[in-house]
Amino acid sequence: MSKTGRAVVYDAPNAPFHIREYPVRDVRTGEVLVRITMSTICRSDIHSYHGHRPNPCPGILGHEIIGTIEQLGDGIDYDLRGDRLAVGDRITWTEFFAEGNSYYRDVHDMPQKASGVRKYGHDRADEDPHFLGGFADFCYVLPGTGILKLPDEISDEEAVPLNCGVATMVCAVESAAIGMGDTVVVQGLGLLGIYGCAIAKASGASQVIALDSVCERLEVAKKFGADYTFDVSKMTVDELISEVRDVARPDGPDVILEVCGVPSVVPIGVNMLRVGGRYVLVGMVSPNADFTLDGYEIIRKWITIRGVHNYHPRHLVQALDFVIANRNRFPFKEIVDSHFSLEQLDEAIAKASENSVLRAAIVP
Ligand SMILES: [Zn+2]
Repeated sequence: MSKTGRAVVYDAPNAPFHIREYPVRDVRTGEVLVRITMSTICRSDIHSYHGHRPNPCPGILGHEIIGTIEQLGDGIDYDLRGDRLAVGDRITWTEFFAEGNSYYRDVHDMPQKASGVRKYGHDRADEDPHFLGGFADFCYVLPGTGILKLPDEISDEEAVPLNCGVATMVCAVESAAIGMGDTVVVQGLGLLGIYGCAIAKASGASQVIALDSVCERLEVAKKFGADYTFDVSKMTVDELISEVRDVARPDGPDVILEVCGVPSVVPIGVNMLRVGGRYVLVGMVSPNADFTLDGYEIIRKWITIRGVHNYHPRHLVQALDFVIANRNRFPFKEIVDSHFSLEQLDEAIAKASENSVLRAAIVP
């Protein structure tokens, strides 16, 4: 194969993006070359671009990516479900990959924490194979990645957030052990929070209480399973705690999912929870997310606090099945609400940063 492809590259945090051409080589054993059909801007891409956390430069951001198989390497015959893969298939894949022996994968069943784990959208663009991020014409899917075929019935817009936001929230709901009759509070209604409402509801939650300070997002949450919404910008902390506890009878919510990335909400959440309540932290993906808790309150109330970062490959399979099973119940296709070309990435990142779009899609 002798050709090139375009990638949108940034040379340093906050620097303008430039389109560069890189060579596209033949796949090696265990690799798949994908022609990207759509990728989306995740909140963590924005953190990386603004330099809130280290990311190699020059780099290609984007890890929520789907596309069609352009070239299939030797040794890659089946997807995670055991379905045979072929050139032309539309696929999604785990946002992380790791090869070799791993204590965390093999002993603790946490492949997302395997030693040497790498993630798409986190490599230098000037080194082979160049294409390892979403904002480009191509992406190499490397050995150690879990691949999943996408059925024709699911649109690109419904499929593209599966491998980050949706799978992460499937993992969060599993970690919180949300089940029949639970009352669940969702703190923050970005993409994670919206899917969190829907997955909690579909998992049997009797009440989902959604919190945000952006009025439009409260309206969106109502379409995705939220029974009650509260605009936190219009209430004092004491009013918020008291109103949530009034709804979550008799003694506060069973579960809280933190997906806003704001550390100061955690003590508020602990205050709301019932005795024996579970708290799952998902949103604080940048360092220095400090908060102060009263250990006495945690002990006295038997609170369980758990962190969740990324997901197991089974959660990607469950994410796809969840969206397919519930696509007539929840309007997933409305979540990806804007489309941009590769040339428009600066504008797309700016709009995503200021929250004027829910999920920005980049279409090569
Ligand atoms: Zn993401």
